[in-house]
Amino acid sequence: TSGLMKGKRGLVMGVANNRSIAWGIAKACADAGAEIALTYQGDALKKRVEPLANELGALLAGHCDVTDPATIDAVFSELEAKWGKIDFLVHAIAFSDKDELTGRYVDTSRENFARTMDISVFSLTSVAKRAEPLMNEGGSMLTLTYYGAEKVMPHYNVMGVAKAALEASVRYLAVDLGSNGIRVNALSAGPIKTLAASGIGDFRYILKWNEYNSPLKRTVTIDEVGDSALYLLSDLSRGVTGEVHHVDSGYHTVGMKAVDAPDI
Ligand code: NAD
Repeated sequence: TSGLMKGKRGLVMGVANNRSIAWGIAKACADAGAEIALTYQGDALKKRVEPLANELGALLAGHCDVTDPATIDAVFSELEAKWGKIDFLVHAIAFSDKDELTGRYVDTSRENFARTMDISVFSLTSVAKRAEPLMNEGGSMLTLTYYGAEKVMPHYNVMGVAKAALEASVRYLAVDLGSNGIRVNALSAGPIKTLAASGIGDFRYILKWNEYNSPLKRTVTIDEVGDSALYLLSDLSRGVTGEVHHVDSGYHTVGMKAVDAPDI
């Protein structure tokens, strides 16, 4: 892939630490020659993200909390001042109260429903709107979703509903931005042990279940998600938009799961 992203600059939002899916994507893009900008959410994460940015020679584009539009504006002003334009954008952001990522979906509170949708769904539209003027020579936007958008997964609850809305947003944004040469796609990643995933009830079991029942008989890594992202962010996928591409060891293709996870 060396040179695939040469001359391209992109913003990657959602690195919390070196286990983040966004970090796998940022590394893959940097290895392929891209220049990267990273945001972080608050000072606690800045301590983790700053050294990672240095490792890639990436621009630290500042604090961004998507519930505070002023912080999103500040990031895009910084990018406009430093770079003038961007070629790609990665949105790897989601949040829900972990007390509602267990038990029954029907018990979701109105407050957490709205907050989950705001942070995990509306934020994509919000950053896409600001990125559009910086992509005047075309570009590629990518978000992260999960199979819980399509089928009911235990404990995923309101996040599954949010991911369904996120995938619909990808299609609407693809139409809105397509005439300007901007593509919008999603990667549907299989379960990976990250900070966000640790909030989901019985996550260890979900990992094992995927390992036993996916065609490849294993889970995926952030490096594998990063390599698939490279395809969607580079010109290799220039004819692809509005797509949800699964990077899940093929799990979503299996209709009848054969094996329970016996060692749990
Ligand atoms: P992670 O904890 O490393 O990343 C989540 C990121 O969301 C963090 O960087 C956090 O700072 C950011 N975030 C949360 N609330 C925010 C806010 N208000 N403003 C700005 N940023 C905020 O976990 P991850 O698993 O790498 O998650 C990245 C994306 O991948 C999420 O959309 C997640 O739903 C999705 N995903 C994860 C898995 C998995 O199994 N880990 C599978 C499929 C999809």
